Amino acid sequence: MSNVRVRFAPSPTGDPHVGNIRTALFNYLYARHTGGKFIIRIEDTDQVRLKEGSDQAIYDSLRWLGIHWDEGPDVGGPHTPYRQSERLDLYKKHALELVEKGMAYYCFCSAERLDNMRKLQETAKKAPMYDRRCLELTKEEVQEKLAAGESCVIRLKVPREKTTEFDDLIRGKVSFENSVVDDQVLIKSDGFPTYHMACVVDDHYMDITHVIRAEEWISSTPKHVILYNAFGWNPPKFAHAPMVLAPDRSKLSKRHGATGVKQFKELGYLPEALVNFLAFLGWAPQDEREIFSLEELAKEFEIERVNKSGAIFDMNKLEWYNGYYIRHIETADLARRILPFLERAGMQVEYSDYLGECVGLVQERMKTLLEAPELLGFFFEAPDYDKELLIPKKSDVETTKLALQKCYDVLKKLTDWSHDPMDQKLRAAATELGIKAGQILWPLRAALTGKSASPGAFEVALVLGKEEVLERLQRALLKVC
Ligand code: GLU
Repeated sequence: MSNVRVRFAPSPTGDPHVGNIRTALFNYLYARHTGGKFIIRIEDTDQVRLKEGSDQAIYDSLRWLGIHWDEGPDVGGPHTPYRQSERLDLYKKHALELVEKGMAYYCFCSAERLDNMRKLQETAKKAPMYDRRCLELTKEEVQEKLAAGESCVIRLKVPREKTTEFDDLIRGKVSFENSVVDDQVLIKSDGFPTYHMACVVDDHYMDITHVIRAEEWISSTPKHVILYNAFGWNPPKFAHAPMVLAPDRSKLSKRHGATGVKQFKELGYLPEALVNFLAFLGWAPQDEREIFSLEELAKEFEIERVNKSGAIFDMNKLEWYNGYYIRHIETADLARRILPFLERAGMQVEYSDYLGECVGLVQERMKTLLEAPELLGFFFEAPDYDKELLIPKKSDVETTKLALQKCYDVLKKLTDWSHDPMDQKLRAAATELGIKAGQILWPLRAALTGKSASPGAFEVALVLGKEEVLERLQRALLKVC
């Protein structure tokens, strides 16, 4: 049994972003690869940014992708509670311990004072830093202010003269001069801990061995290491995965289109495709293979193979993966997954063998499930279209009229409703009329589908059945007459 314990620590601020889910996936894969445990911890200490229902949205997204966790707020575990708002006493106790040891201090500075200080530092092109005014307060002064109920925070006293280093599993040695690390707030005036404080205390108490997160957190890591040192705890191992970027190399955000997992689900992406795609955002296997199931990814995934440079979120690649998985899953499975999309488009269709046959015909060309109503609609309702559609490029109305009539007569007489006899009879009919096969097959296909691109005329005719085909041919004839 491995002792690896990793965590995904989302802040519940809405539909989870694919960048965050990529982080969750890397943690999950690392846990499964090493036989360790994957933990979910909800980091809800920023009360202003909370969005109701986010916890559920996070669980739903992960479960939809097939990512399951061993411990978490909803499944419990040995370190419960796994929601930070339920662990406030623990953070406070530890912050007070640091105050006792002289490693942290109360700060009573007003927001206005801090704001002015920041502005002055900005103008002077200096890094924003607290000026440690409250460090000069005597113990008595602090007690007086506390007794008077003055609003305050607790700050860490960063040992300024040192350098903080850590070994990043992806980036190697990373070092920061403490002189640029601010005296970070540990406990806010509302009594809630800051991210830094809660993260360190929880990672320690939850026995987290590896912190795998996106590069945007790398500047927080020295602060965390300083905190670990102040507590006298061993820090976990760190791995900062590259950021997920838009094609213009800026941080992927809403203005680039869909970014939420739920959005991709609604756009008709398969979880298998999204997982496979997300795994490749910053990671690659040893060989050239691109298609991996979640289990295969877990087998291959090595944190050392995660690269440093930003990973581009390329929608075309995601579409490619989606098309691949759509083509490769069982048709019956695909048909079932399509149902909610048909329903959303107002089509009242239930699962049936007929639906399966229709889906089988469009499976090759479907890129997202969202295209299903458009690709399948004509199987369920006679299409409406312009008369021009019936006329092939190098033909005319008269020829098309003759062709459709002939087609109708031939198919009406056809007793064996299968591919080869249909094919032979219609080709013979074209020869008889002195026209090309296409001049009869195009109008037939157009009459059946109402589309310029669709599966072939025979395939569609076979699935629709004789009666429906004849009816649609009659409608087409009415259009050209
Ligand atoms: N709550 C942070 C987030 O929203 C967690 C960062 C970390 O993994 O330490 O991503």
